[in-house]
Amino acid sequence: MTTEPVATEAGRDFIRDIVQADLDAAKFKEIVTRFPPEPNGYLHIGHAKSIALNFGIAEEFRGRCHLRFDDTNPVKEEQEYIDSIQADVHWLGFDWGKNLFFASDYFDRLYEWAEKLIRDGLAYVDDQTQDEIRLTRGTLTEPGKNSPFRDRTVEENLDLFRRMKAGEFPNGARVLRAKIDMASPNINLRDPVMYRILHAHHPRTGDKWCIYPSYDYAHGQSDAIEEITHSICTLEFEDHRPLYDWFIENLPVPSEPHQYEFARLNLTYTVLSKRVLTQLVRDGHVAGWDDPRMPTMAGLRRRGVPPAALREFVKRIGVAKANSVVDVGMLEFCIREELNRTSQRRMAVLRPLKVVIENYPEGQVEELEAINHPDDASAGTRKIAFSREIYIERDDFMENPPKKFFRLSPGNEVRLRYAYFIKCTGVIKNDAGEVVELRCTYDPLTKGGNAPDGRKVKATMHWLPAAQSVPAEIRLYNQLFSNPSPNAANFAADLNPQSLEILPDARIEVSVAESNATEPMQFERQGYFVRDKDSTPGKPVFSRTIGLRDTFAKEVAKG
Ligand code: ATP
Ligand code: MG
Repeated sequence: MTTEPVATEAGRDFIRDIVQADLDAAKFKEIVTRFPPEPNGYLHIGHAKSIALNFGIAEEFRGRCHLRFDDTNPVKEEQEYIDSIQADVHWLGFDWGKNLFFASDYFDRLYEWAEKLIRDGLAYVDDQTQDEIRLTRGTLTEPGKNSPFRDRTVEENLDLFRRMKAGEFPNGARVLRAKIDMASPNINLRDPVMYRILHAHHPRTGDKWCIYPSYDYAHGQSDAIEEITHSICTLEFEDHRPLYDWFIENLPVPSEPHQYEFARLNLTYTVLSKRVLTQLVRDGHVAGWDDPRMPTMAGLRRRGVPPAALREFVKRIGVAKANSVVDVGMLEFCIREELNRTSQRRMAVLRPLKVVIENYPEGQVEELEAINHPDDASAGTRKIAFSREIYIERDDFMENPPKKFFRLSPGNEVRLRYAYFIKCTGVIKNDAGEVVELRCTYDPLTKGGNAPDGRKVKATMHWLPAAQSVPAEIRLYNQLFSNPSPNAANFAADLNPQSLEILPDARIEVSVAESNATEPMQFERQGYFVRDKDSTPGKPVFSRTIGLRDTFAKEVAKG
């Protein structure tokens, strides 16, 4: 057995230090962690942090990590979520191998152990309503009140619990509670609910059960059954740890796992609450769980975010014991870094303005060579057609430019990327006075973008040939929320009305339209874009993964 971590790529943190110390002390033969999602929604970027931590530790210390579905609430859980969660963990780059588990696989054992607690006088059936239980739980400053049913005999409790299981009572009629201490300063120890009656069909156990264990009861025991050594969860469960330990101490479990808590991921301009994400989808604020504005892994994937960028992001933010909020700019930085390195360059014109090059022979088409990646010669080159009619970006022309505008304006000369110098000689307007077309001339001696007489131009612009390019819809995504710390209680008020801008008349290179690549590309000077699943044969749709620079932060600063 080795105690040296195989890789320290993810850096060290207090949890990895604990794991290392436990291995040094020979406390465990093998490190076993788990990622325990409840299948009641899609995974989000916060879960990515937890996945990378649990699977990462298992990898680095040559242990194993279980994927365990915490499927104890059939009312909110669905097969769709079970499938999407597995796809997301794989996409992020992790694999549970044969270690796929479901808390529902342990329902029989959990039930037997509940009977044992009853026999030991440590659990009782309570006939109070949910409201009564809540009202008698006390507060942080006041103790709770004992239930009038707390002192039932073991026989009566066993009888009632068995009848709960047999389906004799309606939903909510009774619960099974652990008998701990209604005066405990820790509210979690004030006789927490272990089982509730729920006549509901379960995706895996069908109609076998009509009582279901609570999270607190099922979770730790599932860890113990799977012989998890380090049960890692987020800080909000710190106060649950005494209860976690209480069950482990009072039950004949096969192992005694220990719970460790770390700070959950919070991101500016982002809500990471499954309740809110579910509502965004149900209320139609977004186009689904995989809407590219969603912080779900499905949304990030559709947006074109590479999994390597997410892994790098969670590595950079590290694992701490105190809650904090991470600037979403950090995530965007990681996405840009990765895409800058890996993505091929192409040209697209988002808001086309037609240009007729008057001295270019009509009917002539020539092929120019464009490079696919400036830092990677192995990415090769491609051909782009040049002809008399081209499109440039509308923003790259101004009829009456301010002083520092170096792009195209009447009389001014610029370089067309990979092509020629052109000069604007005329402007054509519609009846409303809007510029609809430009007239230009080109200098045939500047082929490839340099003038033999050494004269310089101050701007290089992207462009596309009018006939040899393809129409496309381009979707520009911005932050879903305009408030840096969206209010989860009233999130609708904080939604950014400009989170999606659709450009229906963009143009893209033929090679882009023809390729079925699912990886994002850089559209030069514009950002990174990825083909969207809404594409049809006649109309490709491309979504902006991210712009080239952090313009959002600047816009916010300007107000
Ligand atoms: P719910 O409110 O439904 O419990 P949840 O986000 O906690 O939502 P789970 O399915 O219980 O969802 O989460 C699975 C695991 O992911 C848990 O261990 C949880 O602590 C962890 N997790 C959830 N959100 C975050 C986050 N923002 N940062 C880090 N880990 C998280
Ligand atoms: Mg949870």
